[in-house]
Amino acid sequence: MSKLYFRYGSMNSGKSSALMQVAYNYEENNKKVLVIKSVIDTKGEEYLESRIGLKRRVDVLLKLDDSIRDINIEGISCILVDEAQFLTEKQVADLWEITKEFDVPVICYGIRTDFTGNLFPGSLKLFALADELEELITICSCGKRAKFNARFVDGTFVKDGDSVLIDGSNTKVSYKPMCGKCFLKNLKQ
Ligand SMILES: [Zn+2]
Repeated sequence: MSKLYFRYGSMNSGKSSALMQVAYNYEENNKKVLVIKSVIDTKGEEYLESRIGLKRRVDVLLKLDDSIRDINIEGISCILVDEAQFLTEKQVADLWEITKEFDVPVICYGIRTDFTGNLFPGSLKLFALADELEELITICSCGKRAKFNARFVDGTFVKDGDSVLIDGSNTKVSYKPMCGKCFLKNLKQ
C-alpha cells in the first residue's frame, strides 16, 4: 500500500530542493515522477526553483478548481506536490485516494501555517489524512527552530491581512521564518 506523505516546514526550509532531490532519485532509477505545483493565481511560474540553485520544470500547475482526477498518472511511480498548502481539501482527499486505489505514493511539500499562525486549508487536510508526517527544519535568526512565517510589508512586521497575498501591488512583501518566542514578541509590539 502506498502512502500519502506531508513534509512541512516554514519558509526557507528547503522544501523545493527536497522535492527535486526525490525526483532525481526516482529518475536515476528510470522511474517517472509527476511534479505538481499548487497555485493560487493563474500566472504561477512553470518552474520550481530552490534557493541553492536547483531548477526544474513543473508538469502540472494545479489551480483551486482543477480536479486531481483529471490528471493522467499512467506509468507514474511517484507524485510530488509543491506548495501543497494551497491545495483544496478535496484535492488532498483525491491524492490520498490515489495512493490507496492506484498504489502510487504521493509526497506533498508545503507550509504549515500562514503569517498569522493559522493552518492553511491544504495543510489542515494533509495533517488529517497523511500516512506520514515529517517536519523540515529551518532556524530563526535567533538560532531556535522556526515554526512561524512572519510577513513583512516594506520591511515592517504585519499582523493582519489576507492569508495569501498575490504579487502585483506596489508594496514589497517578504516572509521570514521565526521561532515562537520571536514571533510572539513581534505580535505584541
Ligand atoms: Zn527566534
